[in-house]
Amino acid sequence: MPPIYRRVCVIGCGLIGSSVLRAARAAGAAETYVAYDRSAEVRARVSELGLAEVADTAEDAARGADLVVIASPPAAIGALAGQIASALSSGATLTDVGSAKQAVLEAFEAVAPEGVFAIPGHPVAGTEQSGPDAGFAELFANRWTILCPLPRKDAPYLEAVERLSAFWTAMGSVVELMEARHHDLVLAVTSHLPHLIAYNIVGTAADLEEVTESEVMKFSAGGFRDFTRIAASDPVMWRDVFLLNKDAVLEILARFTEDLQALSRAIRWGEGDKLEALFTRTRAIRKGIVAAGQESAEPNFGRNRKS
Ligand code: NAP
Repeated sequence: MPPIYRRVCVIGCGLIGSSVLRAARAAGAAETYVAYDRSAEVRARVSELGLAEVADTAEDAARGADLVVIASPPAAIGALAGQIASALSSGATLTDVGSAKQAVLEAFEAVAPEGVFAIPGHPVAGTEQSGPDAGFAELFANRWTILCPLPRKDAPYLEAVERLSAFWTAMGSVVELMEARHHDLVLAVTSHLPHLIAYNIVGTAADLEEVTESEVMKFSAGGFRDFTRIAASDPVMWRDVFLLNKDAVLEILARFTEDLQALSRAIRWGEGDKLEALFTRTRAIRKGIVAAGQESAEPNFGRNRKS
């Protein structure tokens, strides 16, 4: 397959940015790669790993690239786009990987120069790890990437969307186009609320006075430890996600709180049939996720039985 882009620039080289570099290299998706990260340590590591040529500034990295991927924490994406705007080449595509999309769409619309194709994006793939050493080439394999194009229908823009879709497909992803606001609502249910619940339940357990921390750890296999994986996710990234996707998260949280109240009433009044009916429905959803290839069918997430 011939390379899709001539020169790919990645700004922010943590888990996702370094995985883009690794996956794109493995797929031969571009001829050359350049990277920038604000941390000198990360820049040195990217160079050491041979992932890309490293630039001293974001503007230098973006200059001459025909694809620029911003992979910084969500709150920095808009400012970075503004910072590199004047360095972007005409005909270049500007994208990102942030977890909230309407805010990025508005920022891109405000700063992208004419002749630059701004296409917000989000690979729905990740782990609770951070940094360039946490990345790997297979991160996006069989995972969805959602692109949220601007409301533009001109042929060059649509071609740029196709080309960016081909880039993610080459890295193993399955691409879906979605309106940015809808993306934010869908992700509020499937990702943001689960993280909020996990952060909350782990925080509650840590604050309990009647149960010691060592008891919580000792008996965590009863379910708690599965929340701790999510609750170990990057604090800065998740702070930004909740602040940027405030409206959708609050809307879904209100629904969740109502449903939780109903469950609490069912427990109080001994309505076992209501509890069982819900738990039966939720079990079917898990089977659907396994059938869709988004989770392992093995018991206990495929963990060693002794663990
Ligand atoms: P990460 O491992 O923490 O990497 C982010 C990198 O960006 C860090 O090296 C950080 O440097 C750097 N950075 C911060 N501000 C910058 C700036 N102004 N200019 C240049 N570099 C900057 O985070 P990540 O997990 O890869 O997340 C990156 C993006 O991917 C986020 O927008 C997130 O929403 C999205 N995403 C994450 C996941 C996931 O599961 N982690 C999944 C899908 C999408 P410092 O360490 O110095 O701050």
